Amino acid sequence: MAEKIQSIRGMHDILPEQSGLWQYFENTIRDTVQSYAYREIRMPIVESTDLFCRSIGEVTDIVEKEMYTFDDRNGDSLTLRPEGTASCVRAGIQHGLLHNQQQRLWYMGPMFRHERPQKGRYRQFHQIGVETFGIAGPDIDAELILLTARMWKRLGLQDIRLELNTLGSNEARSRYRDVLVNYLTEYKDQLDEDSLRRLETNPLRILDSKNPELQAIIEAAPKLMDYLDDESKLHFEQLQAMLKNVGIEFTINTRLVRGLDYYCKTVFEWVTDQLGAQGTVCAGGRYDGLVAQLGGRETPAAGFAMGIERLLSLLEDQGVKAAGDPDVYLVLQGEQAQIQGMQLAESMRDQWPELKLQVNCGGGSFKSQMKKADKSGALIGLILGESEIDQGIIAVKHLREKLDQQTVKQAEIISVLQKLLNT
Ligand code: ATP
Ligand code: MG
Repeated sequence: MAEKIQSIRGMHDILPEQSGLWQYFENTIRDTVQSYAYREIRMPIVESTDLFCRSIGEVTDIVEKEMYTFDDRNGDSLTLRPEGTASCVRAGIQHGLLHNQQQRLWYMGPMFRHERPQKGRYRQFHQIGVETFGIAGPDIDAELILLTARMWKRLGLQDIRLELNTLGSNEARSRYRDVLVNYLTEYKDQLDEDSLRRLETNPLRILDSKNPELQAIIEAAPKLMDYLDDESKLHFEQLQAMLKNVGIEFTINTRLVRGLDYYCKTVFEWVTDQLGAQGTVCAGGRYDGLVAQLGGRETPAAGFAMGIERLLSLLEDQGVKAAGDPDVYLVLQGEQAQIQGMQLAESMRDQWPELKLQVNCGGGSFKSQMKKADKSGALIGLILGESEIDQGIIAVKHLREKLDQQTVKQAEIISVLQKLLNT
């Protein structure tokens, strides 16, 4: 036998038994973003490497060590997208969607990062991203948070809490940076390798360190909140007031700095305790400088991304099920039934497009067809044999309930099924 080929480590097939839950999730998300009048944008999965270096920041985990980068056959350096914001901004600039207008956009799809695979952390994973452009005030920050809160509500997800912080203006952040570097330099001998490197390049990221030995030092560090500029302070206060007004609970986490360089002012994360270390299911914030950084004009912007795998595993843990089982399984007895059954099934689908109808294919005895019907998960079995054909009827069998079999006229089967399936 030839050697079997396996999928790439950290990249998973989504199997038929799981895809029902994915579709339920995606449909719910789609309905929710549309109820806020956000429009979908679809970008390529591969971009110039440069795009991510210039946007995400040279000294971030992603650019330093997580990107899938390769030269294509022309010798151009390309990268499988590790996130969607940079591509979305690129597309917006390229097609003139951003200048002097407001945009509310969303997308969904695979992202690629070469991380150590573990529960909730994969090399191909999927995100829903939402980005807004041209709106500078805290009202849109609040709207983004309300939109996510409504997603949890529609999905029936519980125990996800909101953490908020503000990173201030670029000037405030650079003032704070100096203060932080002075403070951390005092503890230089206790810092780990990563933090020492970041002390030179990106000291704020040290606050984000997951190393338990650094927690005490980080805890006692000066707070960015105390170095904020007035405008950012006001923006943050207004955002909090808006959220309180609509009853969204949150806590302020002054250590929340986010892994990407482009954020300013508002940053937020939705976190759960139910997924171990991979507890952040949604993260976002404001990135007013990014559009100009990528060659567009100054444009205020804010958005977020959520990790679909983490949310799905939360849904599963919380007992939400969505199988793609058929409603009805059609059993066909005899040659004539095979021919006419197909016609009947097509007419049923014409009459009721939402019906999930599985037709027995490949023949088999009555017993084996009934076994397949049972295994399919269908609620109702329909039986068509020679005598039913002669009389223009069909037998209806309840597969999950102890109810008597009945026969109905073929012409009435859809209205009978609609009653039985409760729609
Ligand atoms: P983390 O701190 O967990 O590495 P991050 O800050 O790198 O997260 P973002 O770039 O903000 O994550 O991505 C937004 C969301 O996408 C995360 O909150 C998470 O839910 C999801 N996510 C990020 N990386 C992965 C991954 N490798 N596998 C699965 N989901 C991921
Ligand atoms: Mg990460």
